[in-house]
Amino acid sequence: MVKIISLAKRRGFIFPSSEIYGGFGSGYDFGPLGVEMKNNIKQAWWDEMIKNHENVVGLDAAILMNPKVWEASGHLAAGFADELAECKSCHKRFKADEVETRKCPDCGGELTQPRKFNLMMKTFVGPVEDEAAVTYLRAETCQGIYMNFENVLNSMRMKIPFGVAQIGKAFRNEITPKDFIYRIREFEQMEMQWFCHPKDAGKYFDCWLNERINWYLKLGIKKENLRIREIPEKERAHYAKRQIDIEYKFPFGWHEIEGVHNRGDWDLSNHSKHSGKDLRYVDENPPAGGKERYFPHIIETSVGVERSLFAFLCDAYQEIAGGRTKTTKATKEVEILLKLDKKIAPIKIAVLPLVRNKPELVKKAKEVYQLLKPHFVCQYDELGSIGRRYRRQDEIATIFCLTVDFESLKQDDLTIRDRDTMEQERVKIKNLIELLREKLR
Ligand code: ATP
Repeated sequence: MVKIISLAKRRGFIFPSSEIYGGFGSGYDFGPLGVEMKNNIKQAWWDEMIKNHENVVGLDAAILMNPKVWEASGHLAAGFADELAECKSCHKRFKADEVETRKCPDCGGELTQPRKFNLMMKTFVGPVEDEAAVTYLRAETCQGIYMNFENVLNSMRMKIPFGVAQIGKAFRNEITPKDFIYRIREFEQMEMQWFCHPKDAGKYFDCWLNERINWYLKLGIKKENLRIREIPEKERAHYAKRQIDIEYKFPFGWHEIEGVHNRGDWDLSNHSKHSGKDLRYVDENPPAGGKERYFPHIIETSVGVERSLFAFLCDAYQEIAGGRTKTTKATKEVEILLKLDKKIAPIKIAVLPLVRNKPELVKKAKEVYQLLKPHFVCQYDELGSIGRRYRRQDEIATIFCLTVDFESLKQDDLTIRDRDTMEQERVKIKNLIELLREKLR
C-alpha cells in the first residue's frame, strides 16, 4: 500500500489536495497520469453501458437539487447517517462501529454515547444564508436520474425495460475518510439505473451483477481478487430490497468497490408521494390486455471511479526482484511493472531516441512524437540510458516504447517494444499509426 501511494505521487497519478497548506480533509487531486487513467476508466464504463446495450441512455444531471429530493429519498432522515462517538478529552470523533470499547483509540479518553451524524454536505443557494436557502451537495448521483425519469422516457420514447447511465461527482461528509482514495469525501460515481417490471427485477439483478463482474475481468482484474458478498437485511442501505457488494482484495483486506442494488419501487413511489407527480409507467400493451400502470422497479449498479482506479492500480502493481532483463547491468535492482490493461493505461506510447547526444536521432524521434501525438496519449523521453527509460515507462504502464536508432535514419523505421513481453519488432514509420491503432484496439 505504501509503495503504491508513493508511486502514485512520484509519477504524477495522485497528489494530496492543498498539500502546501497541510492537505485538506483527506482530499486528493489527480495528476497528469491520474486524470488520464480516470478518463479511461470512465470511458470504458460509458462504452460498456451505452455502446454495448441498445436500451441504456446517458444523462448528466446537476449536483445541486431541490432539497425536497433528499427528504423524499430518505437521505435527510436517520437512514443516511453514521453513529458517531466523540472523545471527551481530545474531541476526536470515531465511527461507533469502528471502536471496540468506550475508550478513545488515540488518547484513551472516555467516549460520548454514539450520536447519529448525517453524511450530507450542506450548502446555501443564493445570497442569504438562512434555512430557506439550505441545500445539499448530492450524496449519490442516482437521484438526478429519478428526477428525469419522465423526461428521458418521453423525450427518447423509451419502453420498459431501459436504463439510464450517469457519471458525476458525489459528496459525503465521511467521519473517517481513510485508506488513501478508498474512502474520500468528494468522489465520482458511475451509476446505471435499470427500470423494469416488478416481476422481472430478480432476473435483471442477476444479469447486471454478472455483467459488472465481467467488466472488471475484461479490464484485467485478477479473478482471485474479486468476490461478491450478499448483504444481510440489517446491513442494507435503507432503500435496498437486495444488495450484493462486489469486493476487491485490497492490501488492507476485502472491501466493496461496487454495489448492485434492487431498490424496488422505493425511489419512484416516494418521489411521487412527495412531489404529487404520478411517476407510474403506463404499459399500453401488456400481455393480459388493457392498460397496466405500475411503478417500475429499479436495479442499480453503482461504483466509485476512485475506488475502482485504486483497485486497478493495486491489481496491476508488480515488483520484479533482480529485474526483468537478466542480461543488463541493472539486474540487481527491483523493477516495477504496472500491468494495467491497454484501455486503462494512462500513456499508450513513449517515443525514445536511442541516445540523446546524436542530433539526427533526436530530430527523428521528435518528428515521430509529433506525428503520433494527435492520435495517442504519448510521451517523449530522452533522459538516461535506454534501459532506464524502458523501466521508467514500465513503472507507469506505458504499453509501447518506440525507439529511434541509427537504422531508423536509413530505413525510416523504428522498433516497437511491448511492455509485457519486452519483445521488439521493427516497423516502417509510414505504417505506424494504423499499426498502433490496431494493437491498441
Ligand atoms: P461504504 O459502505 O464503503 O461506505 P456504501 O455502501 O455507502 O459504501 P454506496 O452508497 O453503495 O456505498 O455507493 C456506491 C459506490 O460508490 C461504492 O461501491 C463506492 O465505489 C463508491 N463510494 C461510496 N462512498 C465512497 C467514498 N466515501 N469514497 C469513495 N468512493 C465511495
